[in-house]
Amino acid sequence: MGPVQIVSTIIAALVTIAAVVLAVRTVSRMVRVIRLGQPDPERFDRKGQRTANMLKEIFGHTRMLKWTVVGISHWFVMIGFIVLSLLVLGAYFEVVKPTLDLPIIGSWAIYGFVTEWIGVLGLLGILVLMGIRLRNLPTRTKGRSRFFGSTMWQAYYVEYTILGVLICGFLIRGFKAAAGDLPYPMWAAPVSHGIGSAFGGLSESAAHTGVTVTALIKILISMAWLITIALNITMGVAWHRFSAFFNVFFKRTASERPALGALRPMMSEGKPLDFEEADPEKDQFGVAQVEQFTWKGLLDFTTCTECGRCQSQCPAWNTGKPLSPKLLVLSLRDHAYAKAPYLLAGGGKDLTGEEKATQEQLANVNVLALAEADRPLIGGEADGGIIDPDVLWSCTTCGACVEQCPVDIEHVDHIVDMRRYQVLIESNFPSEAGVMLRNLENKGNPWGAAQNTREDWTKGLGFEVPRVTDGGDFEYLFWVGCAGAFEDRAKKTTRAVATLLHEAGVSFAILGEGETCTGDPARRIGNEFVFQMLAQQNVETLNEVGVKKIVATCPHCFNTLANEYGQLGGNFEVVHHTQLLAHLVATGKLTPVQPVDGGVTYHDPCYLGRHNRVFEPPREVLAAAVGAKADGADGAGANGGNGITEMERFAERSFCCGAGGARMWMEERIGKRINIERSEEAIATGAQTVAVGCPFCLTMLGDGVTAKKSVGEASNDVEVVDVATVLLRSLKPEPAEDAAR
Ligand code: SF4
Ligand code: SF4
Repeated sequence: MGPVQIVSTIIAALVTIAAVVLAVRTVSRMVRVIRLGQPDPERFDRKGQRTANMLKEIFGHTRMLKWTVVGISHWFVMIGFIVLSLLVLGAYFEVVKPTLDLPIIGSWAIYGFVTEWIGVLGLLGILVLMGIRLRNLPTRTKGRSRFFGSTMWQAYYVEYTILGVLICGFLIRGFKAAAGDLPYPMWAAPVSHGIGSAFGGLSESAAHTGVTVTALIKILISMAWLITIALNITMGVAWHRFSAFFNVFFKRTASERPALGALRPMMSEGKPLDFEEADPEKDQFGVAQVEQFTWKGLLDFTTCTECGRCQSQCPAWNTGKPLSPKLLVLSLRDHAYAKAPYLLAGGGKDLTGEEKATQEQLANVNVLALAEADRPLIGGEADGGIIDPDVLWSCTTCGACVEQCPVDIEHVDHIVDMRRYQVLIESNFPSEAGVMLRNLENKGNPWGAAQNTREDWTKGLGFEVPRVTDGGDFEYLFWVGCAGAFEDRAKKTTRAVATLLHEAGVSFAILGEGETCTGDPARRIGNEFVFQMLAQQNVETLNEVGVKKIVATCPHCFNTLANEYGQLGGNFEVVHHTQLLAHLVATGKLTPVQPVDGGVTYHDPCYLGRHNRVFEPPREVLAAAVGAKADGADGAGANGGNGITEMERFAERSFCCGAGGARMWMEERIGKRINIERSEEAIATGAQTVAVGCPFCLTMLGDGVTAKKSVGEASNDVEVVDVATVLLRSLKPEPAEDAAR
């Protein structure tokens, strides 16, 4: 061992010890902070499925690969990071003795081959990611970049670290090749041999010194990174390399699906809260303090990589609202860790608002943490609030953020948890939504319509719509929904669906006046009490009638009936009307004969598409209607060969209409109207028919298109209609006219 090796070894050892001690201390603190959250026992079930899913998501990069170039680049960088760890480990041997390799596998040609190519592709990957980041800088994209609000120095630092370590790895191999010590043949490590040729003029001892010094640099870069992230506990762009495994493992669904569809119920002692037995002194009603999120919530906040995918897809952010799902998560993360010293010292408020800790316990807590503890979770800037009320109420619960998040953060659950406290305890929510809640409580529907007008839509259909009270057998309970029963445009869809089911000979019946709102708007706004009241009543009614199968036209009803009533003892097989219609068309029970002219585009409703993965059936129905032309499905400008012209954002990336999350009943005062943004996209397809599969989308896009027509920015021929109406028109022009009245 020469003097260079001795000095290098001592430096490497000292820096490594310091880095590891700091990192262990930070990880232990991180775990203690995450454990401050509330219990969430359901995250520990189906461990085998969770493990398989985690491995598939992380190593298959299922979410990342939806952004192909970024996904591929990131995959190589991630694998490169794992390989890098081996290369860094090898550097400790090279520092001691330049001819040494990693024990056991280090001199194996296959190891050399794999690490060589992962290194090359990792290098290319990191360069691509750096290029993408530079191209999307907030300064270049007028502040609406997905990186707006991300801590840029941290991302650059991580990227340059990976770049530096990879370059060092190749230089070490090059020096070894020059000294004749590289144990891999040319086929296994051509790049390293090439670099070795460039160092061909070096003496053996100079090459050995090169190995030692470069290995030391590699260790110093790596340990500087470890020290930096240890000193920055909220540096998610680095920590996610470790925490993402746990976050994906503990996701709510234990499967590949993101946490969409059913909302997480309010919990009491690890079980869903039943309001009939709720005790305000014991049960937490929503989230008013950051530590009232579950431990998984705190793990979510810790894991955010600041990639901004969620932000780039958020309809609120894209129309100038103050809500960005990324910035919301980052605010909660920063607040949680800033408040942590106070909480870890035993501080915190009980459910009556009393301080739990004694003055002595809090005596050593730093003033910054005490000040942070005083900040309200929801509040405006003047009050020092962490989340502005306008941020909280801007969310449409469309799920685009959850769908896109590569580390499975569950934004919608967190947003609704905060809404629950504001609604149930503070009664603090947009006043106009109060009318909707009162109507739900008093009349069983958000419009406040008289219950005895629920069946008015059946008048003049030309056939008798069967009621469950008639006593006959039926296969499907046709769940009409409040919009379908009371809202004029939605009633046309209801009539069209009933006509189609009748034409196809489907055995169905309606509850009529026995139906009330499913409770979806109450639940999404945060009023779990009203939701439970309505849901329990409906579950009772449906169980009494012996309902097994339900067909619903409203995706919000569909989602609640299919995914949430199970939490209250209502287990039914639920289909959306487009699914049933697609089946009836495919089995020849409904045969379109009259082609739909003028082009068709389809808007995916969030609660049908993203939340419930129903993307194809509505398109199949429309394709059948368009394909009624003698020469097959050849709609103008069709993207998918099915006659439908897709909008710029469709299917999983569909853009919300603006009505979800009870936003239908709130004023949209900030930024551009979401329905206008979406209507512009629909109009840009040039299609005359904008088909939807949701009564709320029908209203929102209908209003949006009307507004564009009024300023001459849309042709008067453009029409927004439900998929069922399109099918009915293509099936039988005469009854279609009649049913659509
Ligand atoms: S659910 Fe939709 S509106 Fe709400 S934060 Fe996520 S992307 Fe934005
Ligand atoms: S997509 Fe997920 S990881 Fe990326 S910024 Fe949003 S919350 Fe964070």
